[in-house]
Amino acid sequence: MAKTIIKDKLNRPLRDLRISVIDRCNFRCQYCMPAEIFGPDFAFLPKSELLSYEEIERLAKIFISLGVEKIRLTGGEPLMRKDMPKLVKMLSDIEGLKDIGLTTNGVLLPKHAKDLKEAGLLRVNISLDSLDDELFGQINGRNVGVKPVIKGIEAAKEAGLGVKINMVVKKGLNDSEIVPMAKFCKDNGLQLRFIEYMDVGSTNGWKMDEVVTKKEIYELLKEHYLLEPVDPDYFGEVAKRYRYKGTDVDVGFITSVSESFCSSCTRSRLSANGQIFTCLFNGEGHDLKEFMRKGATDEEITDRIIKIWNGRKDRYSDERTEETAANRKKIEMSYIGG
Ligand code: SAM
Ligand code: SF4
Ligand code: SF4
Repeated sequence: MAKTIIKDKLNRPLRDLRISVIDRCNFRCQYCMPAEIFGPDFAFLPKSELLSYEEIERLAKIFISLGVEKIRLTGGEPLMRKDMPKLVKMLSDIEGLKDIGLTTNGVLLPKHAKDLKEAGLLRVNISLDSLDDELFGQINGRNVGVKPVIKGIEAAKEAGLGVKINMVVKKGLNDSEIVPMAKFCKDNGLQLRFIEYMDVGSTNGWKMDEVVTKKEIYELLKEHYLLEPVDPDYFGEVAKRYRYKGTDVDVGFITSVSESFCSSCTRSRLSANGQIFTCLFNGEGHDLKEFMRKGATDEEITDRIIKIWNGRKDRYSDERTEETAANRKKIEMSYIGG
């Protein structure tokens, strides 16, 4: 399929699309959906507001025609949406798509990993912030222990999916788990990615001094392991990677706060209710759902996306301060995924 390559105001092409399929989750991670805010009365999106699989497929085709090569499915918890393998199959069948992954807390993987793989899913990123049951239960806000996630990791590996582990590190909460998690992942041949705690949304009460930076984590790991840097695999690779010397196991860092990477950011995000966000830290999105439901043609939708991308000049992480973190309106992570 011939692709139209589009660039934004900072000359960045459109390469990646993250699709949030649902805003609900079976966890209440303190740094993402704090239980006191996302309580029993919280108004989640009604089903009619969620994009249908056919609508997602239609938009994905248009995005792919505009340069997108990689799709990541996320949420909320994407595996809480019914029949995800069906969506994976619809998307992986689109000509021109090179990579399709899913980010999940892992708990529902034992049930779905095999079907997801058969449907064409290539990889999963599984979030795990601690190996200590009590601490993990406290972080996920639902008292879920580590075992269900480990079972999810095993199921994904068994199904033949590529597996990476995501660990958000927050000072004073789970920094004591950095070395145990590194050991666990290294021993099991899993790539661990340490994610700096970010000021996504406005409900997690983020403070700069709660961020554990890549440098701090790296210095700590160096006390235990010999690490050598690994070259990026492609332009815009988000994780800075190192290899444990003498092994083929990598460890990565997502340095959104301490070493921003906006200049190579090629990511767009489609929320569960059909809005496009050109940055994780946008306050508002650009509607595609109503436009589509009112009868817009593929050409009209394509033009709208081109216009949005051409006008993009987001570089929030380059500009972040305590002040922007506290005062700027930002969409919640559970609407647009990570
Ligand atoms: N529920 C799935 C999961 O947890 O993997 C997918 C959605 S979750 C929003 C995607 C990723 O964002 C997870 O790896 C999560 O740990 C990360 N995340 C959520 N809130 C964050 C924050 N405040 N700072 C950094 N990462 C965050
Ligand atoms: Fe749910 Fe993922 Fe957010 Fe945790 S990080 S509350 S698992 S969406
Ligand atoms: Fe991309 Fe926005 Fe993150 Fe910068 S802050 S890397 S523009 S999503």
